[in-house]
Amino acid sequence: MKIALIAHDKKKDEMVALSKKFEKLLSKHELFATGTTGLQIQEATDLSVYRFKSGPLGGDQQIGARVSEGEVDMIIFLRDPLTAQPHEPDVTALIRLSDVYEIPLATNKSTAMLLFKELENLAEI
Ligand code: PGA
Repeated sequence: MKIALIAHDKKKDEMVALSKKFEKLLSKHELFATGTTGLQIQEATDLSVYRFKSGPLGGDQQIGARVSEGEVDMIIFLRDPLTAQPHEPDVTALIRLSDVYEIPLATNKSTAMLLFKELENLAEI
C-alpha cells in the first residue's frame, strides 16, 4: 500500500514513536511524507520515505494531488487540534479529498494504531 505520513509539529514525536513501533509493518509498504515529518522518520528508523515539501510550503497539497490521482491508499495525519496552522485550508482540503476518494485517514494516534493493526492482520491472512 501507498501510505502518506504527516504530523503537525507538536505531534511529530508521536509520529516517530508510531513509525518505530510499526517499523517492520511499514517497511513492507511504500511510504511518503511531508518534508519535516519524513526527515524525522528517516532519522529515527531504517524506513525509506519519499519526502514532499514541508506541509506549510505545499506538501499537504502535493499529497492531495496524489490522492486525486489514485496514488494514495492510506493517510496518517496526526493533527494538532490546539494550535492554529498557517496552512489550515490545505489541511481541510486534504481531509476533504480523502473523503471524496474514500481513503482511510487517521487524524490521531489511536486511530492510526487501529489501521496499522488491521494492516498487520491482513498480512497474516
Ligand atoms: P511537515 O509538514 O512534516 O513538513 O512539518 C506537516 C504539516 O504541518 O502539514
